[in-house]
Amino acid sequence: MKVLVLGGGIVGVTTAYMLAEDGHEVTVIEREAAVARGTSYANAGLMAPGHAYAWSSPQAPGIMFKSLYRGDQAIRFKPKLDPRLWAWTWLFLRQCNAEAARVNSLRKHRLCVFSQEVFRALKATTPLAFDGREGGLLYLYRSQESFERGAANTQLLTDDGQALEIIDRERAAEIDPALTPVKERIAGAIYAPTDESGDARLFTEALAERAAARGVTLATGTTVQRIEAAGDRIAGVETDKGRHEADAYVLALGCWSPALAKPLGLKLPIYPIKGYSVTLPSGGNRRRPSIGGVDEDNLLAYAPLGDRLRVTAIAEFAGFDSSHKPADFAGMLKALRSLFPEGGDWDRPTYWAGLRPMTPAGTPILGRGRQANLFLNCGHGHMGWTMACGTARITADLVAGRTPEVDLEGLTFN
Ligand SMILES: Cc1cc2nc3c(=O)[nH]c(=O)nc-3n(C[C@H](O)[C@H](O)[C@H](O)COP(=O)(O)OP(=O)(O)OC[C@H]3O[C@@H](n4cnc5c(N)ncnc54)[C@H](O)[C@@H]3O)c2cc1C
Repeated sequence: MKVLVLGGGIVGVTTAYMLAEDGHEVTVIEREAAVARGTSYANAGLMAPGHAYAWSSPQAPGIMFKSLYRGDQAIRFKPKLDPRLWAWTWLFLRQCNAEAARVNSLRKHRLCVFSQEVFRALKATTPLAFDGREGGLLYLYRSQESFERGAANTQLLTDDGQALEIIDRERAAEIDPALTPVKERIAGAIYAPTDESGDARLFTEALAERAAARGVTLATGTTVQRIEAAGDRIAGVETDKGRHEADAYVLALGCWSPALAKPLGLKLPIYPIKGYSVTLPSGGNRRRPSIGGVDEDNLLAYAPLGDRLRVTAIAEFAGFDSSHKPADFAGMLKALRSLFPEGGDWDRPTYWAGLRPMTPAGTPILGRGRQANLFLNCGHGHMGWTMACGTARITADLVAGRTPEVDLEGLTFN
């Protein structure tokens, strides 16, 4: 079958690879000059089924409200005259109750666990260089109160089969010796021994190369302008470089999916939530973290990636504005430095900001669109690196007419 994958981020490229493995003739359409130049470019790199909690929780509205009058919050909600923002916020608030948070977290967890299985099978058969690191992730708590709350939350995921250990600061410093000099600054931690990390951009680039070797056409520098429907099917896609026709189409445009899906009768509830990212070279420092993790009180995620240290933070409602200036990163660098004073070369930061394609529930949108030959794979929010391989496998199964291994209840558009 001829399949057109729209979008060359981690989601589009993993999907193209799985489709090629199934023997399809695949073309990826990507507007940038290379793959992984959108949200997949410089994320935190955490592959974290052990952290699959939904953002929409009973506490979230309070945090959003506080951000209206305090500029130093990790979540920054700024009201704007943007009807899409208000429609999304309304749907998000409706998910902010204990039962919805439980259901959404378990759906995310189901996908993350499956995705890690697919990722591991892929790694085992296909050598890919992406600065991957196994050995778990550490979720660190600075205060006793937040530690107790975090520890209580683990039950949801441990009951669902996730390995999570509640540990004291001594054990945390044993697991990651870089914490030894600062261990008094943490109250305790949760260790997820099976979580891992890696550079999503390098992974996407390496997999795109493998996909091309299997015959996938990477049409980079090509912008999708319109998806054209005829009756109950997609008839073709207009791009700035001409028209493409295929038997099946996969929508994997991340944050940019809703605009192209709307004329097809699909109102996809995906809103861009901006995050900030800094990468530091090691600079020969020997007290770099040996595994990645999250500073839970500062909502800051970090990972050693080869000889670099990556840190990301902040969830800002800024529409499609991904601009940034050095001052935006001061708070997150200060917090990271208090944990890993010798973590990297602080004088040589590389700054980046990206847009998380968030749905109100935090789960991606999979399955068919309104047209029989349109398949959705978008809205992976803050966990697209973790979920990409799994949702790619699911999408390839659906295109092939197979039943996916994961129950898609609550994960489809309709
Ligand atoms: C700061 C930050 C930290 C994060 N940390 C983590 C983490 O630790 N772990 C994790 O699992 N996830 C993390 N994420 C989330 C993860 O990065 C995203 O979920 C994931 O990258 C989304 O991938 P995607 O392929 O759907 O989107 P994208 O990578 O944005 O891909 C969509 C592609 O579509 C292209 N495109 C758009 N419009 C058009 C058009 N008209 N024509 C052609 N091409 C077009 C874009 O150029 C882009 O390349 C983080 C995100 C951010 C911002």
